[in-house]
Amino acid sequence: MSETEKIAGRVKELRELIEYHSNAYYNADAPEIEDDEYDALMRELRALEEKYPELRDENSPTVKVGGAASSKFASVEHTVAMQSLRDVFSMDEVEQFCADFSGAQFVVEKKIDGLSVSLEYTDGVLTRGSTRGDGRVGEDITENLLTIASIPHRIRTDAKFLEVRGEVYMPRRTFAALNQSQEENGLKTFKNPRNAAAGSLRQKDASITASRGLDIFVFNVQQVSGIEFDTHSQSLGYLAECGFPVSPEFTVVSDFAGVADAIEKIGSQRGILEYDIDGAVIKVNSLNLRKSAGVTSKFPKWAVAFKYPPEQKETVLRDIEVTVGRTGVLTPTGIFDPVMLAGTSVGRASLHNQDYITQKDIRIGDTVVLRKAGEIIPEVVSVAVHGGGEPYRLPEVCPSCGERVFRLEDEAALRCLNPDCPAQLLRNIIHFASRDAMDIEGMGPAVIEQLISSGRISSPADIYNLTEDDISSLDRMGKKSAQNLLAAIERSKSNDLYKLIFALGIRHIGESASRLLAERFGSMSALMEASSVDFASIDGFGEIMAESVVDFFSTVHAKELVGRLADYGVNMTALADGKENSSDRLSGLTFVITGTLDGMTRDEAKALIILNGGKASGSVSKKTSYLLAGENPGSKLTKAEELGVKVISLSELEEMINA
Ligand code: NAD
Repeated sequence: MSETEKIAGRVKELRELIEYHSNAYYNADAPEIEDDEYDALMRELRALEEKYPELRDENSPTVKVGGAASSKFASVEHTVAMQSLRDVFSMDEVEQFCADFSGAQFVVEKKIDGLSVSLEYTDGVLTRGSTRGDGRVGEDITENLLTIASIPHRIRTDAKFLEVRGEVYMPRRTFAALNQSQEENGLKTFKNPRNAAAGSLRQKDASITASRGLDIFVFNVQQVSGIEFDTHSQSLGYLAECGFPVSPEFTVVSDFAGVADAIEKIGSQRGILEYDIDGAVIKVNSLNLRKSAGVTSKFPKWAVAFKYPPEQKETVLRDIEVTVGRTGVLTPTGIFDPVMLAGTSVGRASLHNQDYITQKDIRIGDTVVLRKAGEIIPEVVSVAVHGGGEPYRLPEVCPSCGERVFRLEDEAALRCLNPDCPAQLLRNIIHFASRDAMDIEGMGPAVIEQLISSGRISSPADIYNLTEDDISSLDRMGKKSAQNLLAAIERSKSNDLYKLIFALGIRHIGESASRLLAERFGSMSALMEASSVDFASIDGFGEIMAESVVDFFSTVHAKELVGRLADYGVNMTALADGKENSSDRLSGLTFVITGTLDGMTRDEAKALIILNGGKASGSVSKKTSYLLAGENPGSKLTKAEELGVKVISLSELEEMINA
């Protein structure tokens, strides 16, 4: 892949990622990443588009306002576009913005973190209210907005028509109470006040909105007929007279120094306000100047939004708590003397893994610097002073089951590999019963969850000990479905060995690798006894994969599990059909793999090659027959191109095998 193709690929990838997260944020009101991570993606995309103008696109998220109007509501076309704001992250950029309007007055306002709405008044009566949507078309949410106590239904004004723009938000106290009640009622909690506000406002049933205690600040006159304003501050003054809650404590200043002071003042109030803010907005005050500055397709040129760096505080680390997650990863959590950060009390923060702790040399008793990334997730920035404790090491056994834990070669995390570890049970059994593994039809997540929670199974082996009564007593399980499930369990006992190997969920061992192991070792007992040396004889079988298998079978629980499965009559030997998927089509060929393959890990591809008679090697040389390349290939691609080695994709490899 050429450099240009690589860049175009990255641009495409960034656009897809941003679209995905925009949808989660604006349309589903359920973001999956932090705002600063989202901002970083957007910045990278913007920089690439600036550097490579040929890659620009009018549909890029850098030129579109995020969001879309849902068909749940009638749509509203905005006569005056509801635009976004250009973000700036440094005072240098703010200074540059001020210099571009040298001599002008500026208004500095808090950037309220909520949901942008438009309110239209005809002859002083609120006739329509809508969301921003994509900036041009929004959603008609008049009924919902009418339930917000601070939005006036009627205003005293001489304007025949007035459209104002504001930010609906949820006060922090209301947010805390809402989440508490959601939790008590077993309902989904909201990630932050912004999402709670958006989720509450975009309800089909306006009585829900009414119950959520939302509030508003208005910050702009979008359109007005019959009144003229010279400046933005004048229009805000007028809106206050009309009875609107306007942009709180906005300041009018006449130069960069004034802007900088105002930004600092707002920054120092962050976290102690009754509402969330996600920056400060700096706007040119003169409406004439604004008009001549103009707009881009996404934001006005006469305003910028300054984003504050995350807030930091020192505190003492009192303890480190280690828990094991559903994937077996051990996670250390720091327990601190609580400190107020961005408005909430913080007493815990993830310390991620041993490397993170070692790199920062975090020890119990240390005074550390804490901050909230994206104002939400607390993290340790650094150690300020050691408190005399020893360097910290994570435990060598799983806090849940007591088995030895492993650090797999390519990972930072420590993992518990015990297939019966209670913390990982659900996930392991779902995998065990899944179609590509033991293929037990009818044994889906819902059934497994019930079997675990009622104590009927606590290991994959227990599946083979289930009775008809055990199953028919579950929710929505009659006698007939119980019998069907039992028959499926029975059938799974005669599966080929490779399905069982795959079902055990050994790290790095996917389906092809399982087939390869079944074919090479022939029986479970031979595989369990194999040492690293035996794996080395399988040409190209990766060291990481080999180590993973050896580690897995070294645990007492793995041995016990296999022993019990064998006792229940589960087949432990390779059958003919396991070889169906092997061939010698790649015999005599050597492959090197690079980049991210679509739909398969590199380990799996390697196993697939070996299973079909080929060899997999780690580095490109003249002897390499093919370079199998995925997305973002490394230097191996350049090397292959230099040596004239043919480069193929995964689908081309599959064609060679299936030819
Ligand atoms: P924005 O929210 O950063 O800025 C524009 C908005 O600011 C306007 O819609 C306006 O309603 C609001 N605003 C609040 N107070 C204001 C004031 N005093 N004056 C003027 N406007 C004011 O821009 P955006 O394009 O809507 O959204 C980008 C933001 O959303 C970023 O902060 C981004 O991190 C976040 N986001 C996060 C995710 C995620 O997945 N975490 C996804 C999408 C967007």
